[in-house]
Amino acid sequence: MTGISDPLDPRLANYRELLDQLEHGQLDSDWAVESIGTGPADEIGALGESLVSAAATLSARFERERQFSEVSRAIVQGMYLDEVLDHIYESFRPLIPYERIGCALLEANGAIARARWARSDSRNVQLKVGFSARMASSSLRTVIETGQPRIINDLVGYLAEHPRSISTKKIVAEGVQSSLTCPLVALGRPVGFLFFSSTEIGRYATLHQETFLRLADLVSLAVEKSRLYDEMARLNADLLQARKILERQATHDGLTGLLNHGAILDEVSLLLADEVAGRDPLASPVAVMMIDIDHFKFVNDSYGHPVGDTVLRSVAELLAGAVGERGQVGRYGGEEFLAIARVQDAEEAFELAERLRQAVQHEPIGGRSKGISVTVSVGLTTPVGGAGEGSQELIERADAALYRAKKAGRNRVVVG
Ligand code: GH3
Ligand code: MG
Ligand code: MG
Repeated sequence: MTGISDPLDPRLANYRELLDQLEHGQLDSDWAVESIGTGPADEIGALGESLVSAAATLSARFERERQFSEVSRAIVQGMYLDEVLDHIYESFRPLIPYERIGCALLEANGAIARARWARSDSRNVQLKVGFSARMASSSLRTVIETGQPRIINDLVGYLAEHPRSISTKKIVAEGVQSSLTCPLVALGRPVGFLFFSSTEIGRYATLHQETFLRLADLVSLAVEKSRLYDEMARLNADLLQARKILERQATHDGLTGLLNHGAILDEVSLLLADEVAGRDPLASPVAVMMIDIDHFKFVNDSYGHPVGDTVLRSVAELLAGAVGERGQVGRYGGEEFLAIARVQDAEEAFELAERLRQAVQHEPIGGRSKGISVTVSVGLTTPVGGAGEGSQELIERADAALYRAKKAGRNRVVVG
């Protein structure tokens, strides 16, 4: 205490102490007339009561500002709309009475309001998230048009007057008796509504409207931010999708869907690298097969290029099916394919190459009615154990074997 005590009335000393506390920002105490000791109801007593009342008003305002700044901070810190609304639900009771808060957003160019978020003290929630109402037939339209909060302090009476309002029916069934509705406006555009509801009749007064409007301003910001986040997430997903498509296009052949020339060569190198790193240098666990469709020019010439494409796709599918999980098939170029697979030994490599050849030979392309039959020639090779051959040498050897298969009459496997 720094002030000078009034020799006339000891109450003045208490008042000075209260003022001193207020001056130092101690606004969170519970100010009570008794604690100040306003004494008899004379003029000094009345002054004390006014002081206590002013202190209480200041405290309430301080608390409100604190809550608002917390919501602002929540929005700035990047919280999503739901989190901001949760925060409001948990902390705004001292400022506005409620036992339920709901938020609805406008959709379809403002034609529909859809419940986006709701929390209630009651377990009996009837008006659920997702519920939508057409704005054309809704009294909410007035709220948007006036831009002013609307108080309905007797919802049961309101329902009697508006028996067709499904949302009122639902909310009354939850036990709600009064409500305060505020429009949410972001960047000058109406975006939705915030509903505070109470199970008590006549709960809302115009005094709550100012608090409510400020709150609605903040929530509108959160709505806008959330919308931007959603849009960003959507764009990001689109971008990832586009990247996936590009990556696929970079490594796959557009016509057959097989690996393209570069990608299948990479696969050969990878498999050979595994081979080099392998424990048994004398084993030959990789089969390299160069496959070419026989007389494919004839197919094009006889049936046309589009049918030729269909045949290429079918052959690609047959080859991929025959190699299965054991390896990879790529379109090396034109009507030529390169396949690689892990095998136990040279014998199994030959069996696999034969299986590829037979898979194509036995399957009439374009269904049995069309019945275009094609065959393939296969040049097969396996790495010479311990020689540390590169993919280039292997492919050249397979190519030479393929050439010999063609020379020998086609539709056969030749080992090189
Ligand atoms: P061979 O048995 O000696 O391999 O005879 P071939 O007729 O298959 O060989 P050639 O190299 O003379 O002809 C290959 C044909 O494949 C020529 C080309 O027009 C055709 N071709 C290459 N790529 C495509 C394609 O993407 N679609 C279609 N329809 N035809 C293609
Ligand atoms: Mg050919
Ligand atoms: Mg060819």
